[in-house]
Amino acid sequence: MIPCLAALTVWQAVGSYRKDVADTERLVEALARVSEEHIAGVMRSFDQLLSEMEEAAPDGILADPQRALTAIGNRAKFIPELRSAAFINDQGIMLAGNLPGMAGTNVHDREYFRALLENPNLSIFISAPLRSRVVTGTSIVIVRSIRKGGGQLAGALAVAIDPKIFEDELRSVLPGDGGRVTLLRDDGVILARLPDSDKWRGVSVAQGNVMVNVAKEGRGTLVGSSVTDGLDRVIAYRRLENYPLVVAVGMSLSEALSDWRRDVSLQGGASLLLALLTFGLSMVSDRRLAERQRIQQALAASEARYRMLTEHSPVGVFQADPEGTCLYANERWLDLAGRSRDEMLGAKWCRVVHPDDREAVAALWQSHVSGQGEFLAEMRLMRGDGSIRWVRGHAAALSDSEGPAGGLVGTIEDITAAKEAERRLLLSEEKFAKAFRASPDAMVISLAEDGRYIELNDTFSSMLGYGRDELMGHTALEMGVWALPEDRAALVAAARRDGQVVNFETRLRRKNGETFDTLISVQEVVLDDQDCLLFICRDISERKAMEARGKELLARLDASNKELEQFAYVTSHDLQEPLRMIAGYAQLIERRYRGRLDKDADEFIAFLVDGAMRMQAMIRDLLEYSRVDRLSGQFTCFSMGDVLDDARANLGAALAEAGGTIEVGPMPEVNADRSQMLRLFQNLIGNALKYRSAERPPKVRVSAEQTARGWVFSVADNGIGIDPAYFDRIFLVFQRLHTREHYDGTGIGLAICKKIVERHSGHIWVESRPGEGCDFRFSLFEGQG
Ligand code: ADP
Repeated sequence: MIPCLAALTVWQAVGSYRKDVADTERLVEALARVSEEHIAGVMRSFDQLLSEMEEAAPDGILADPQRALTAIGNRAKFIPELRSAAFINDQGIMLAGNLPGMAGTNVHDREYFRALLENPNLSIFISAPLRSRVVTGTSIVIVRSIRKGGGQLAGALAVAIDPKIFEDELRSVLPGDGGRVTLLRDDGVILARLPDSDKWRGVSVAQGNVMVNVAKEGRGTLVGSSVTDGLDRVIAYRRLENYPLVVAVGMSLSEALSDWRRDVSLQGGASLLLALLTFGLSMVSDRRLAERQRIQQALAASEARYRMLTEHSPVGVFQADPEGTCLYANERWLDLAGRSRDEMLGAKWCRVVHPDDREAVAALWQSHVSGQGEFLAEMRLMRGDGSIRWVRGHAAALSDSEGPAGGLVGTIEDITAAKEAERRLLLSEEKFAKAFRASPDAMVISLAEDGRYIELNDTFSSMLGYGRDELMGHTALEMGVWALPEDRAALVAAARRDGQVVNFETRLRRKNGETFDTLISVQEVVLDDQDCLLFICRDISERKAMEARGKELLARLDASNKELEQFAYVTSHDLQEPLRMIAGYAQLIERRYRGRLDKDADEFIAFLVDGAMRMQAMIRDLLEYSRVDRLSGQFTCFSMGDVLDDARANLGAALAEAGGTIEVGPMPEVNADRSQMLRLFQNLIGNALKYRSAERPPKVRVSAEQTARGWVFSVADNGIGIDPAYFDRIFLVFQRLHTREHYDGTGIGLAICKKIVERHSGHIWVESRPGEGCDFRFSLFEGQG
């Protein structure tokens, strides 16, 4: 629109420019015509004078000069600008003139005379402004030729006029500001020019626009710069018809166009205003358009954002119409309800609510719709797969400007985990309560602040012989529960300081005044934001009594053991003497009476000797057994390897006799009773050689192994082995698995081994497979590192 406006404005401006220029042209043309007429009038009057002067000098011969001059004088009265008039002969000499002294003046060299002389066809000539030789001031001389028959110059008539006469004529047509009017000779010499005629008079503007155009077409108009002052003008020029003169009237172009300029300014201004207005409006409308687009984009972005937020919301969002038909549900909602979008859209949303919850939900909804509180409900959703989700639903009835529209928007949050946790908590609380109530330990919770009982179980009340209500709300001190109240103060202080106290022993008092031993643990707990103390009390009076009884029994046992040991020692020791006597005499009888009595007597005596010997061996072994504890040596540090070397040496004969070998692995240093260790190994290795297999020479392997609980030694053989049924029995005193016929022995060797090992805080056992061999193992220093 703005380019159109601009084009229209330019078009109009050009049009009005052309019109204004044309109007100006017409004006200056008219002025030029008027000035032509004025100048022509002036010229005609001088022509008239010249004609009259010619009449006075036909053929150039001035017959009566006086008469001629009178005629000039008469005319001159009416032409004040006439400065002088003269008759000039063919030689250029003034014959007569109206002013004294003119006659005889030679003007032969004057331009005007020369022009007439040199151009035979020239009848009139107007001089350039010149200084007269007879009058002062600048004059213009108009001369007319007097020709003879062949055109030869016979003489000339001349009038000198004040150029002012032209200026006066021109002044009446001089246009206003910036206007110019010029009278020129047809060769371009300025005769008069307004304004500043004095300055321009006599100047030639032959090369100017006007003269070039006059040469071409005589009259016309032009728009161009003036030769005189360089200003642009609209100029009308006219060559006079009968005189070699040209008039030019010029109007300043800027003056001529002042209206146009004003109009153009006005129009331009108006157009500019219109353009600005249009531009402004377009800007405004552009801005509005941009703003609208921006708002639309923002709205679209906001909607997309909202949609994205809604779609990816961790909360289920849905919308339903007044009939409860689902219009929208986001992914989360569908996920929680375990339904597909196709399944839900258009369906009643409440069908996913668990049937047991529907009524409550509907009632809540009704009260919300009727303006009574918000809709916030915990409910179960029946998922498509039949499973259940607990959700917290929050919904609002949709309303428009005319009131509630009946639809709803709502959100649901998954609270299954919270519900589950709540259920578990309830369960655990229930369990705790049950455990608390049913605990075999007496439990009571009191406020830390004042010791008031706020909870207690039946065990506690029955332990003290009170009814529950008798204790609840009271303090222990009030009830005199503590036999030693200072213990309570110390216990509570420790529990408050350390958070808990475990197994504090004190005495409590029952309702009947009886006191009893109690083991109490206290734990600081916070219940309902209150600092409390949980007391767990166990009646240990029975245990205490049992402990006391146990201690007593132990002491008695110890005493009896000692007595028994003493008895065994004494018995075996004291039996030695009579036995030695029996054996001695039996052997004496045998030596003395063998073969002297009958055969039976010999046999009986042999039995007697054997029995006495066996008994001696048994009593010796029994004595040794009883000495393991009684007469034991000191513990010293020594190498078990050395002990084994000694054992090997002591068993040298048996080893050789059996053809066996002993292999001893790396042995540790130990802190033990060296002689008992020697005895232990000798017994075990001795047995290994004794109970060898008939099929192979005995091979004994002794090794040691360090375990977390101490050293474990092994004496393994390839002998006859032991049936697992007897693994324990063989370690008892006098327990044997074989008769003396097969293997000699008293059955006390392993019992001694057991006693030695136990004295060294260890234990002994056997592993075996009958027919393959035994592995006797014993540990030492168990639990002593
Ligand atoms: P004794 O060897 O005097 O009979 P012990 O107490 O040393 O008494 O052994 C008890 C019994 O354990 C033995 O009678 C024997 O039957 C069995 N026994 C002991 N050591 C071995 C062994 N290395 N191989 C097989 N049996 C054994």
